[in-house]
Amino acid sequence: MGKKVAVFGSFVVDLMARASHLPKPGETVKGSIFKMGAGGKGFNQGVAAYKSGADVAMITKVGQDTFADVALNVMDELNWSKEYMLYNPEVGTGSAIIMVDEQTSQNEIIIVPGACSTITAQEVDNLRPLLSECAYVLLQLEVNQDANERLVDLANECGCKVILNTAPYQAIRDEFLSKIYMVTPNEVEAEMMTGIHVEGLEAAKKAAQVFFDKGVQVVLITLGERGVFISDHGREEIISAFKVDAVDTTGAGDAFNGGLLTALSEGKDLWEASRFASALAALSVQKIGTTPAMPTREEVEVFLK
Ligand code: ATP
Repeated sequence: MGKKVAVFGSFVVDLMARASHLPKPGETVKGSIFKMGAGGKGFNQGVAAYKSGADVAMITKVGQDTFADVALNVMDELNWSKEYMLYNPEVGTGSAIIMVDEQTSQNEIIIVPGACSTITAQEVDNLRPLLSECAYVLLQLEVNQDANERLVDLANECGCKVILNTAPYQAIRDEFLSKIYMVTPNEVEAEMMTGIHVEGLEAAKKAAQVFFDKGVQVVLITLGERGVFISDHGREEIISAFKVDAVDTTGAGDAFNGGLLTALSEGKDLWEASRFASALAALSVQKIGTTPAMPTREEVEVFLK
């Protein structure tokens, strides 16, 4: 097992319904399937890292309600420590209403972050002993941004490198970005953040330069089934995704980021780590769902043989 790492981010309960078409305003549509499950970018990435073998602490915040049990039950089933779970008795656990058109696979989502958007400064400050032990902390943009900002400052003070998955897109301050070691936008986020449409290697290099100019040290831009662009400001290339039959690409980015964290914690270099992360993502897109679709370490190793 590698060095200790942490994921700081959201937990929401996904409430997913599929129907023959998406309802128009004012319309009620009879659905065919309903599923409830653990979600949130933070939690998905944490599960991906944990199942693929990382010694990872999950830091997220839930309410004290039945939706919180969805997270706690997954952690119990995985035999994963709940030591860094935070609770807000006054605000409900986050939720996401996901409507999927079963013919086109298009979706409409409303996410209500709830408790995981109420992480306080004191709760972040309490993480100092943990972050002092961690080689990396992985975060996203789904919890309250003031908590992310404080966490990044603390991580830097503790010598813990910050990986920021810039999802879902929101405008962030350059000063915040300057304290980030590695960013992992997808191509849409990369374009929104840099103004550059990442269609090929040359465009990706230009987009990466925008991040380097702001102080980031490593840039990975995920390109869906085309693979991932990697640059450490020296070597720059696109590595292809594994060719698989995808049935549900939801959470591919989360699988990738979780796998990346595991591999980096084990001291793999950026290229080896990206290959490991791509394998996790390729395995996850072959299954429906997010956390249940995250592969185990054994599955990743068999796949990479
Ligand atoms: P999502 O929002 O759906 O979770 P994302 O937009 O954050 O995903 P992507 O860039 O779509 O992230 O995918 C992340 C990584 O997953 C890619 O770099 C690639 O390695 C892998 N991947 C995505 N789609 C496929 C696919 N169809 N086949 C194989 N690998 C895939």
